[in-house]
Parts: sequence; C-alpha cells; structure tokens
Amino acid sequence: MSLFTGNATLTSRETSPRASLWNRKIKWSKIMEYYAPVSLKDAEKLKKRKGRNFLFAGGCFLNWRGSPKADSLIDIKNLGLGGIRVSKTKIVIGASVTVEELADNKSLPDVIRKAAKSFETRNVRNMATVGGVVAGKFFVSHLLPVFAAYQADIEYYLDGRKRKISLKKWLQKRDGIICSVIIDKPSRKVEMEFEKISAIDLPLIVSAAGCNTPGRRILEAVFAVSGAENRLVISSTAEKYLNGKKTREISIGELTQAALSDIKPSGNFKASARVKKRIIESHIKKMFGALLK
Ligand SMILES: Cc1cc2nc3c(=O)[nH]c(=O)nc-3n(C[C@H](O)[C@H](O)[C@H](O)COP(=O)(O)OP(=O)(O)OC[C@H]3O[C@@H](n4cnc5c(N)ncnc54)[C@H](O)[C@@H]3O)c2cc1C
Repeated sequence: MSLFTGNATLTSRETSPRASLWNRKIKWSKIMEYYAPVSLKDAEKLKKRKGRNFLFAGGCFLNWRGSPKADSLIDIKNLGLGGIRVSKTKIVIGASVTVEELADNKSLPDVIRKAAKSFETRNVRNMATVGGVVAGKFFVSHLLPVFAAYQADIEYYLDGRKRKISLKKWLQKRDGIICSVIIDKPSRKVEMEFEKISAIDLPLIVSAAGCNTPGRRILEAVFAVSGAENRLVISSTAEKYLNGKKTREISIGELTQAALSDIKPSGNFKASARVKKRIIESHIKKMFGALLK
C-alpha cells in the first residue's frame, strides 16, 4: 500500500516552549493517525481496519467541536475524485469538488449554484466538499434537498468496485466511499428556498422541489426538506399527491397538508416547531407556484 502517514496536527500549546514540561504532565493516550492513500482500494482497506476510521474530505465537520472522535483520518485528496462534467443529458460532480467550485461553475443549473452560494461563509465553501455534504450528518444542508429534488444518484466504492444507487437509498445505508454525485435529468424543473435569521447564520429550513410537467401533467415529483428533523426528509405523501395530476388540479393547501404529514419539525432556541412548519408552508407555496405555472 502506498501511504503517507503522519501524526495529527499539533496545537500551539503542544509546540510552545513550555511544551516539554506540559507533555511530561500528560499521559498521551493514543495519537490520531493520518493517511492519504492514492487508490480507492487502499482507502477502503484503511477504512475497514478496527477502530474509528473516518474519511477526511474538507474537514469542516471533522474539525468541528461536535464531531466524533477518530482513531485515524483517511484523506481522500489523492483519490482523483475532483472535477465537474456537465452535458445536456448528464451532470457528474466529483466527491472532492468544493462548494465554492459549484458556486463558481457557470455551466451548472442556477438552482445548484444558488444552493452552493447560500453557504454561510466563503471559508466554509472553500473547505466543504460535495462528498462531505452528502455523507456528513450535519443538522441542516443547503445542497442535499436540491440533489434530492434532481433525483440524483450516488456513485460509491464498496468492496472493491464502484456502484450506483439513488441518493435516497444511499442515505439509508451510508455505505462506502462516495466518488461522485450524478444527475441524469439535468433538465428537470427544480426550485429551492431557505430561511435564516441573519446573513451569516446557518439556515433554519432548506426546502427543494422538483418535477417534470409534460403536457401539464406532473411526473416524478419530489419535495425534500432539511433542518426540520435531524435528517433530510423526502415526503412520499406529497409525491403521491402530486404525481399523475394535471397542474391545475393541485391545491397548495392539500399539498402542504400532505407534505407536513411526513415532516415532524423539532423546535430549537432559534425557532419553534410551529414556526418551522409555517416556513415550510411558505416554501411550498412559492416553489410550487413557480414549478406548476
Ligand atoms: C462551521 C460550519 C459551517 C457550516 N455551514 C454550512 C452552511 O452554510 N450550509 C450547509 O449546507 N452546510 C454547512 N455546514 C455543513 C457542512 O457542509 C458539512 O459539515 C459537510 O460535511 C462538510 O463537508 P467536508 O468535505 O468538510 O466534510 P468532512 O468534515 O471532511 O467529512 C464529513 C463526514 O463525511 C464523511 N465523508 C467525507 N467525504 C466522504 C466521501 N467521499 N465518501 C464517504 N464519506 C465521506 C467523513 O468521513 C465525515 O464523516 C457547515 C459546517 C460547519 C462545521
């Protein structure tokens, strides 16, 4: 295996002149290992070793105070998972692509760029990667609902080979190393909305909706919400309500009722569950107003 191994980064306290004194006082338990494998095969081997071994992409979540403790970090930077390919029939976004790269790429659909640009700060956009956004269990996401609304697939590496499944299914299993996000229907109509308290805050709720409307009949509708619960919710009841109907048959009130029957918002210090419900209602009205006109 060709690997680079090193210790975890030292903090200023550990490298200060008083470090030797300080180090003597501490009984070092276990040093976190760092690897940067050059093949998916090697990365998988490292991931499957005993212990808490985490793939390391942008490091936003893994450097965060709420992140789980790791025995080793497996940096995916040398796995060749970068690049964005856009054609009329397909979009392929590599797992190592940063959110800033998405925001900057003018050939991507506006709604994907809007979601990417909405990230809190440029620093986070420069660090966070598409693979990290999909795999990270952050409590709210600008991009995940949009990928869901596009009915995106995930290409991932598991047990020595690449596979492809829908994002929805991948989120249930969370297996393997994500290689790319694939959008096979880039011409779908997709809308996204989000609500936040202040410009530099994380969003309270992010919603996205997508569908096709050939001959004004609604097909393959998706309504997805992040920030309401501790996971992405894709409303199957809203989909059932919408699919097969003519656009003029849709009542926004009935659609909202259908969607909210699948979404159980939890309140926090920023917004109560009731406020979150009202936000989702207003998103539905705005997005489906645009999609069905
Ligand atoms: C301070 C801060 C601000 C944030 N602001 C926003 C915001 O405004 N909007 C928003 O939507 N989100 C925001 N986030 C959430 C952020 O998008 C996620 O934390 C995301 O996981 C960051 O991606 P990363 O590449 O840095 O992931 P990492 O921290 O490197 O990894 C996150 C998780 O994903 C796993 N992982 C990474 N890559 C892969 C892969 N290719 N295959 C399988 N598993 C993988 C890692 O093992 C880890 O468990 C913020 C997070 C932080 C900490």
